[in-house]
Parts: sequence; C-alpha cells; structure tokens
Amino acid sequence: VSGTQLVEARQACEQAATAGREVLARGGSALDAVEAAVIILEDCPVLDAGRGSYPNSEGFVEMDALIMDGRTLEMGAIAAIQRVRHPVTLARRVMDKSGHHFLVGPGADAFADSIDFPRCDISELLVDNDQEPAELAVASVPGLSDTVGAVALDSHGNVAAATSTGGTPNKRPGRVGDSPLVGCGAYADNWTAAVSATGYGEALMRVVISKRVCDLVGTGLSAAAACNAAIRLLEERTGGDGGLIAVDARGQVGWAYNTTAMPYAYATGDSPVVVGH
Ligand code: ASP
Repeated sequence: VSGTQLVEARQACEQAATAGREVLARGGSALDAVEAAVIILEDCPVLDAGRGSYPNSEGFVEMDALIMDGRTLEMGAIAAIQRVRHPVTLARRVMDKSGHHFLVGPGADAFADSIDFPRCDISELLVDNDQEPAELAVASVPGLSDTVGAVALDSHGNVAAATSTGGTPNKRPGRVGDSPLVGCGAYADNWTAAVSATGYGEALMRVVISKRVCDLVGTGLSAAAACNAAIRLLEERTGGDGGLIAVDARGQVGWAYNTTAMPYAYATGDSPVVVGH
C-alpha cells in the first residue's frame, strides 16, 4: 500500500466518523451509525471491502460482513456474497428480514434477490490499486490490513459494531475469514463494549478476538487496555497480525494493532474528528 493510498484511507475514515456522528446527532441509533460509516468505507477503492475488494484465486470477488446490535444481541451476517456494493447493508437485512442470522454463498444470493437488494457488476468492485504513478507513491506500508469496521455508542447507551471485507487476496473460493463470524470479526454488547477487528482472519478467529475484548472490558479493563491485551494474546497464541477498534459502554474508545499501520478515526461529542494510523 502506497503513501497516497494511506492518505486516502485516512480520509475515508474521517468521512466515515463524520457520517456516523451525523446519524447519532439526528437521533439515529448506534446500529444506524455503524452502517452509515461502513457504507462510506466500502465505497473507498483503496480499502478491501465493497469497491476495492481483493479478487479470489479465480478472479471473483466474494465478500463477508457482520453487523451487531449491542442492545438486543441481534446480528446479521453474510459470507461469500458476490455482486453487491454494500455487504454491510445486506447483513443488516439478514438481521431484520431473513428470520436467520447468517447466510452464505448461493443462499445469500437468493435472499438478496428475494428482497430486491441492489446488485452490481463485478467490474464495479474490482479496482487495480497497483496502477498508481510511481511518483505518487511516497511510502510503502506493507502488511496493511484493509478490512473495514465501525463501532458506536448512542445517547441511549446502546452500542453497535459492523465489519465488512473482501477477505484475503487470492483466497480459495469459499474461504471465509473472521470478519462475518460473531465474536471474531465484531461483537457488540451493551453490558461491555462494541468491537471490530481486522487482520489475518485465520488467526483472529481462533482467539475469538472481538468477544475477548468485550469480556476483558467486563472484568474492568478500559477499551484501550482490553484492545492491547487482546492483540498481545493474538500474537502470543497464534503469531498472527491484527487490529482492533472498540468503544465501551461508558464511551471510552480504544484501538490497538500489531500491523504496520491501521488508519482509524473517531468522533466524540462535538470535538473535532481525531484521525490516525
Ligand atoms: N480479516 C480479513 C479476513 O481474514 C482480512 C483483513 O482484515 O484484511 O478475511
């Protein structure tokens, strides 16, 4: 990933945080806010979700997404879905309309069509991120994980989390990572926190990382300390790389990563959006 791509990713994070805050300011729920934020990130071509997803080993784009409501523990997830611009919104429809919590592959396709969910051409999802003029590539940031996610706490004390991904580059068809797995790619529980994860799915899923952060918050750790502890555990138990964002039920934010970079942004109250990586 080049320096300009990192700048673009940070801008998308800033826009996403701003959009999420606007939803909350209008009285929208944490669930609405995380969906709005992830939609913006799915549209960003340098991030591996929606537009900009990595193709699999056969050249197709198979995407995974999860959304979770910390108030009710309701969740919707979708895996190996093709030809949709906004997998996070389809995951929300799974939660609201399917009578189930997790749909995959052809069944997910059939559900999308049954509710007239907008479909797109694969060419709208594939972006050649390598075709950047060399003079614009100011820095190289190897190992950046590009799955996107959002967490929010609303004025009613409800938290929510959402995660969306195109998965790992060149993956085997049918491969599903951590992102749509509840407790792995995301978790939200009003009693503790909302968490979203990125990184090497084959490692993250084995330590059920997002639920683990919530459990650590439940033992009294801050969101920041819990994220740090979970990343340390990921490293020690699997040797894998990952990143986390979290907001706890008291409104404290936290993040941690052992990748080279992880662009992030957050907005609290009326304060200016904070952006970093
Ligand atoms: N966690 C995602 C997956 O394994 C990939 C990523 O975060 O880059 O599918």
